[in-house]
Amino acid sequence: MTTTSPHPATATLSKAQVVIVWLRRDLRLTDQAALYYAQRYAKQHSLKVQLAFVFDRAILDLLDDKTDARVTFIHNALTAIQAQLLGQGATLDVFYGTVEDAQNHWHRRYDVKAVFVNRDYEPYSLQRDATQEENWASRNAAWFSYKDQTLLEQNEVLSNTGTPYTVFTPYSRKWRDKLTPYMLKPYPTEKYFGLLHQQDPLPLPTLASMGFACTTIELPPPTVHTELLQAYADKRNFPSLPATSRLGVHLRFGTISIRQLAKLAQANSDTFLNELAWRDFYFNILHHFPRVGEGKAFKADYDLIKWRNNEAEFRAWTEGQTGYPIVDAGMRELNTTGFMHNRVRMIVASFLCKHLLIDWRWGEAYFAKKLLDFDLGSNNGGWQWAAGSGCDAAPYFRVFNPTLQTEKFDKDLRYIRRWVPEFQDPFRYPRPIVIHEEARKRCLEVYAAALKKS
Ligand SMILES: Cc1cc2nc3c(=O)[nH]c(=O)nc-3n(C[C@H](O)[C@H](O)[C@H](O)COP(=O)(O)OP(=O)(O)OC[C@H]3O[C@@H](n4cnc5c(N)ncnc54)[C@H](O)[C@@H]3O)c2cc1C
Repeated sequence: MTTTSPHPATATLSKAQVVIVWLRRDLRLTDQAALYYAQRYAKQHSLKVQLAFVFDRAILDLLDDKTDARVTFIHNALTAIQAQLLGQGATLDVFYGTVEDAQNHWHRRYDVKAVFVNRDYEPYSLQRDATQEENWASRNAAWFSYKDQTLLEQNEVLSNTGTPYTVFTPYSRKWRDKLTPYMLKPYPTEKYFGLLHQQDPLPLPTLASMGFACTTIELPPPTVHTELLQAYADKRNFPSLPATSRLGVHLRFGTISIRQLAKLAQANSDTFLNELAWRDFYFNILHHFPRVGEGKAFKADYDLIKWRNNEAEFRAWTEGQTGYPIVDAGMRELNTTGFMHNRVRMIVASFLCKHLLIDWRWGEAYFAKKLLDFDLGSNNGGWQWAAGSGCDAAPYFRVFNPTLQTEKFDKDLRYIRRWVPEFQDPFRYPRPIVIHEEARKRCLEVYAAALKKS
């Protein structure tokens, strides 16, 4: 008697027929658009739902810091999802490698009928998803993508003439009109957990197996108190107060639902809702003007500015050693916690571009490395706002005075004392690396020359 290994066609028959929900910036199981639509599709076509994630080496290999807090954050979020899935007899399927290898791996393991994702808007992700969609199509698997990361996306908020907005105030007015209760309806994913593909647990790769270690940075919880939202308008500009939500990183990775947060905002703080509109606004700019994500100034003539790009001064800025306590406090907060208060982000960014005349792209890249809540659209928007080169940006002649900003927003110096305790000690704290009035004058001259202003 001879034995033969199963014919490939027979092997396919024994594979589970599934739809894959490929998680990326949507690391949760509740109120999750792609998961919900996958469940409905699975129900209609008698399939099962398999959740999957890729620790993408194309991204991870670029991170120099092997304790990068964002990798720990993602790992923690996946661990929490895995615990929920195990409770349902299901499991996450997590792959460490390239996205192409992940696809091959899933193709071998399952009979994949369709792949469901939530849309991702950054240049790398757009390219990646376009290729994936094609590759899955060649394997007879359909591709479905949804809005989940933003409240209103792409062409949902256009001017009456059908053009994208480039100024925030009219954008936000239209945005509010369009933000109907229907837009904020939660996706009832829990109702369909019975459709999850049942299989033995698959282990998550450990951080160590991917060459990473756990961060020591404290990661903020995914919650916000209504009291904080109610006091937000009055207190949000004072960096010494715990008065902002710190939810940026949760919005970045989708560990909370933006719709749920918007509903909370509607009930408790119009000012907070406005900040969520800013977030959508910058997604909108990135979508309609993709050049901003490719290192170009939104206003092209700002690319003519002759930056000084002094490396020693850049280093002093990154290390919080400029001799301007409010700037140094911000940079030290960022380096230590992966967070910086919004008011201080504006001050340090303005200082880098205008006082030091260092290209805003250097600062943007530094923030991208360090911020837990790093998001290409908002980060680029914030930097171009500060440099004056962005849409609806601070005018070029507006140069924040760090001393006046301190008097306004950290009058009792609590924030500064916390991060720069030695700031009054001339032996331990550096003298200012530039004199405000001189730097301001130099900046105005350089900007005016580039922009041909008299
Ligand atoms: C130079 C610069 C760079 C920035 N880089 C980023 C970035 O990489 N990622 C990022 O999410 N935000 C960025 N911001 C915007 C803002 O500083 C942060 O969103 C905010 O400080 C995060 O803290 P929080 O979660 O406590 O915000 P909260 O004040 O509690 O606001 C709630 C949420 O609203 C959104 N939001 C608030 N302010 C803004 C804003 N001005 N623009 C866009 N969205 C906003 C964020 O998602 C935020 O989490 C940047 C701002 C500047 C000036």
